[in-house]
Amino acid sequence: MIGAVAAATIAGGVVAGLLVVKRLESGTWQMLDRGDFVRVRDRLTGDNRGPSRVIYLARGPMTFSPGTDDAAAGRSSVVAAKANTNVAMPGWKGSDKAWKQVVTCVSNLFAPFDVEVTDTRPAGDDFIVVAVGGRPGDLGEKNKRVGGLAPFSGAVIPRAVVFAFAQQLDHQVHPVCETIGMEVAHAYGLDHAYLCKDVMTYLKPCGRKSFVDKDVPCGEGTRRACNDGAPTQNSYRRLLAVLGPRRQTR
Ligand SMILES: [Zn+2]
Repeated sequence: MIGAVAAATIAGGVVAGLLVVKRLESGTWQMLDRGDFVRVRDRLTGDNRGPSRVIYLARGPMTFSPGTDDAAAGRSSVVAAKANTNVAMPGWKGSDKAWKQVVTCVSNLFAPFDVEVTDTRPAGDDFIVVAVGGRPGDLGEKNKRVGGLAPFSGAVIPRAVVFAFAQQLDHQVHPVCETIGMEVAHAYGLDHAYLCKDVMTYLKPCGRKSFVDKDVPCGEGTRRACNDGAPTQNSYRRLLAVLGPRRQTR
């Protein structure tokens, strides 16, 4: 197996995982190590589907099958890489109040960008689904300190399925919200940022996070170049480039 799950500390000592997945032209998938990042990016340039502009926060239980990401069909490359069999995620088990706070918090994180956050299942099939709830073990992830998982290629993965293990995070609003933000942004191609105020960081918590408009090195516990070879990433500008700015009339 050639695979890597990047992991480091986030709030509460829990770890968010970055699952590196390569989508082949055949439609099959394969986990990759970091050395393959650039090649993945090159291969994906041929994928002409744009970014999904609806982020669906799924509160209820959902079942996912292994395969190329297709949120509406409940198909997930993360599931393929982990359990490789159908998995049942239990959904949100926290309070109604905390759920509403999570939805508001995620909406605020993505407010600058032309994307909608909703907890109502979209009518169409072009959306990212976030399975909110459960634990890493529900997916066959053995590292119990993983707070979330997302497919990552360095480019946009349309209709991605990402996971935020809310039970592992004790259904705490901000850790769940910020984990969702990171995992969704991985599906839009963002790498980890070496800046503790940024959503994309693994560094020790230093208060509330956002997508920060600042050029910073990539990295988990230490600085490194970003997966596209650039010395820095600006998570705010990167999302703006992918999604565009929020339009006033929607
Ligand atoms: Zn991550």
